[in-house]
Amino acid sequence: MQVKKPVLASIVRTKGKQNILLTTTEEYNAEFLIKYKEIWRNCFHFQREQKLEPWVQVVAHGVPTLPFLGEGGSKLLKEEIETFNPIGIQGLPRWITSSEKRHDPQTRFGSIVFTVENEEKRQEILKQKEILIAGTATKVVKYLEVSPTTQCSSCQKFGHIGDRCSTRACRFCAAAHLSKDHSCSTCTITGRPCKHTTPLCINCKEEHFANSKDCETLKAAKLVHSTSEEGSMEE
Ligand SMILES: [Zn+2]
Ligand SMILES: [Zn+2]
Ligand SMILES: [Zn+2]
Ligand SMILES: [Zn+2]
Repeated sequence: MQVKKPVLASIVRTKGKQNILLTTTEEYNAEFLIKYKEIWRNCFHFQREQKLEPWVQVVAHGVPTLPFLGEGGSKLLKEEIETFNPIGIQGLPRWITSSEKRHDPQTRFGSIVFTVENEEKRQEILKQKEILIAGTATKVVKYLEVSPTTQCSSCQKFGHIGDRCSTRACRFCAAAHLSKDHSCSTCTITGRPCKHTTPLCINCKEEHFANSKDCETLKAAKLVHSTSEEGSMEE
């Protein structure tokens, strides 16, 4: 096994110090951590590990990107939200807007998703309609309940929907176009595969469509928990 990127986005001790919450990064998941438990188990004193089940999440749109671009940006963002709003965030907020886009000088605002302690708290926040981040009133909405196996219609990856995804990968041939733009130069069919299509899965690189039930990546996604985008070990 070779670890090429940071595995953890954050390590948080919960109230009462009974639990330690480890948030993994995009490249790794809870299954990975559990599989290689022997490597890190001496870093903490714990009795058992458990994969976290779905969270109560809130999305904020129109969040200023600039103040949170640097290292530890997510942590700063969390502090900012908690200081200026009656909100306690579990773990770290994560950007829905890609890192690439956030670093584009043209981009001034982005969207984030963060986890709150329970549904009651979430309703309270949603009722406010806006929260204050870096002096800006940002709109809050309910996070669409995506499961780890929800497949993006744009990039075919799992765990998010395609409405804000700018990465393109064809469900049928894995080329960099939307599935609906898939076409064949022999047939005049578009948007669906034909007998000339060589199936290729963008996720596992096997010869099947990206939504195949046999896909190993899909099987793995069933075990994957939502991960954080920010790839730095903080705290
Ligand atoms: Zn996507
Ligand atoms: Zn295609
Ligand atoms: Zn064809
Ligand atoms: Zn596959």
